[in-house]
Amino acid sequence: MRLRRKPWIDTAILDYADFVTPLGGDWTAFSGMWAELFGRSAPLHIEIGVGKGDFLTELAARHPEINYVGLEAQQGVLYFAARKAAERGLKNIRLVVFDAARLTELFAPAEVDRIYLNFSDPWPKARHAKRRLTSPLFLARYRAVLKADGELRFKTDNMGLFDYSLETMEREGWQLSRVTHDLHALGEADNIMTEYERKFSARGAKIGRVVARRPSEQG
Ligand code: SAH
Repeated sequence: MRLRRKPWIDTAILDYADFVTPLGGDWTAFSGMWAELFGRSAPLHIEIGVGKGDFLTELAARHPEINYVGLEAQQGVLYFAARKAAERGLKNIRLVVFDAARLTELFAPAEVDRIYLNFSDPWPKARHAKRRLTSPLFLARYRAVLKADGELRFKTDNMGLFDYSLETMEREGWQLSRVTHDLHALGEADNIMTEYERKFSARGAKIGRVVARRPSEQG
């Protein structure tokens, strides 16, 4: 998602300081302490690449029993997610302007129960494969912060990225389930649409979805 940098957001985002840590803010001190930050121990689910937050805010509203942390590299889009969280008065969501490449600085080993990736940037060129959020490098980071039985849930309309991801996850020892190349055909009532999902499916694109269980220690 590309947005022209909007300078007013750097100030406006401070209105939502209860929900979001802005660019330059540092929440790595919360590694291992997220339960304390939320003021309760509860399962911790995170989303990487939150965008404008339609998915995560709706998910958090439907599941008040879960603590949610959303990571997004671009402050310019995360502002809109923070505004939605504030308008809905959600208590169980925090948002961080953060590059997921540094994931292991933000969460302690086995602190996270579930990771969501939605419509991640495809990086189609082979020489950019390492930047894909489902590359072996990123899967190793997820593995490091996930609990033993933790899982990754991934949706995308980009079938090149989807098939690459299925292959890579399998090769890295993740256990795949609920794989579909046409999620909407299943009509699952608990599917929450992201901004991209709404846009691309309106144009006729099919959506792939996989749930991947973290490899065991030996795996
Ligand atoms: N999930 C949203 C947005 C998809 S676009 C939706 O489905 O509508 C992908 C998003 O991931 C962009 O907003 C981009 O800034 C973010 N992103 C890409 N790489 C990232 C990284 N390494 N860390 C955090 N966010 C990242």
